[in-house]
Order: sequence, then C-alpha cells, then structure tokens
Amino acid sequence: MARLVQADLDNLNSAMESRSPQELLTWAKETFGARVAILSAMQRAGATVCHMAYATGVTMDVVFVDTGVLFQETLITRDRIATEYGLNVVTLSPDETMEDQTKRLGVLYLSAEGQQQCCEMRKSAPLMKAFGRYDALVASLRRGDGGRRSKVPILAIDQKMNCLRVNILANVSNEQLEQYLAEHNVIVNPLHSQGYATIGCNRCTTPVLPDEPKRAGRWRHLGPWAAYCGINPTDVDRGDEAVDLPQELIDRILGRKTDFVI
Ligand code: SF4
Repeated sequence: MARLVQADLDNLNSAMESRSPQELLTWAKETFGARVAILSAMQRAGATVCHMAYATGVTMDVVFVDTGVLFQETLITRDRIATEYGLNVVTLSPDETMEDQTKRLGVLYLSAEGQQQCCEMRKSAPLMKAFGRYDALVASLRRGDGGRRSKVPILAIDQKMNCLRVNILANVSNEQLEQYLAEHNVIVNPLHSQGYATIGCNRCTTPVLPDEPKRAGRWRHLGPWAAYCGINPTDVDRGDEAVDLPQELIDRILGRKTDFVI
C-alpha cells in the first residue's frame, strides 16, 4: 500500500477542471473499474449523476443511505431511478430503527450535539458498511451550492472510507444543472417543486422561502449552527487527510507511467 494525500491531487485537479462531468464519470470507471460507485441521496444533483451514468452507459453501483426516516417521496425517487435507469442501487441502513434509538437515547436531533450523534449513527455509520468495497465514490457536490462547498475540489480524499471522492459536478453552475435536468427530463424528487431546496431526513428538513439560502431548511430548529451531516468529508474540517491504496492504483489515478528497468 502507498499513501495519497490531497496535495498529491492538486495538479490532476487543475487539469480536470476542463473536463465535462461525463468525461469525469468515464475516467472514474476506467481508473477504478468495479471498485467505484455513485453515492447519491437522490436529490436533484444526485439524480443528475445517476442519469449521466444511464445516458453514457457507464455502469456502476449507486450507494444510497436510508436513515429510516426519509420522506416517502425520496424512496419512490430512488426506486424509479433504479428501475427506469437500470441502475443497481445498494441501500445501506442503520442497524437500529429510529424508534429504538429514541427509546435508548431520547430525541437526539433536538440539540446540536445530538444531531451530530444522530447523523453519525444514521448516515455516516451505515455508509461505513461499504468500507473496503470501493476505491472511489462519485458524488454530486457542487461549488454553486455555496457555503463549505464553494471550494469543493473535483477529487477529494475520504480518509474515513479510505477512498477518493470524485465530485463530477463540482464546477457545474446552477443554470447548467437546471438546463441538464430540463433537457433530459431527469427523474427528480417531487419535494423539490414543493419548496424543498435540499432534502434529507423528514425530522430535520423543511421547505425554504424563495429568498432564503438553499440549506436554510436543514436543521432549521437548531439555527445556523447545523448545516451538514458529516457524511461528506469536504463539508467538515478534518485536517490533513490521507488514504492508503495500492501503488499501481495511485499511479493510474495520477496518470503516471511505470517504467521497468531490467
Ligand atoms: S438529519 Fe436529523 S434525523 Fe436524520 S440522521 Fe441527522 S439528526 Fe438524525
């Protein structure tokens, strides 16, 4: 195994800025083979990535975390995307139901500390069930979403999952995303047209007013202190991160040729 840190990806990230999302998706498949999957919450951008896989014929699993307290509309959207786009959706869930968790620990999502604990147990821990299965996860974070995502790189280190995140929509603007959704009649969660700018668990998501920030509807009851669940490493400060991958794979990621001297 060899070590890869975020700084190792700087030159590649610069070069990738001019590539289209579809080219990045194809690069991910060519580089990681069967060990790459899409990570989607079935929101607008995640559905776009799923559609791009379908439209380009780039086959890979779609990993979806079901916290057990998602909106029914989100689950229906997941099922439609799996069926109509012919994608293998791998659903990961927490071990404990929300009912049992509440009996054991109380209603966690009512405090900032409890929210972090709840998101860890119901979002991050279920994703860890896929640890070791993938070397890369294609995600749908965009700089156009602002906040912590305003500088998200295309390739990011995910130390916890020991894999790369490939944010193929990182430099796709809001207008470009809307254009793609409309042009391709992408399957979208119907809650988006009911004022939900972003969609998470039913306990912690509300619609937003037209002049509110997009993420104002997430953990609204906690005020501005809670904005992200922590499932995406670039949403939280974790310091210098690194992954350990086979040297041959790192060479492939970085486009290095290995010369053998006999
Ligand atoms: S969004 Fe709310 S209900 Fe869902 S895991 Fe986080 S704190 Fe729990």
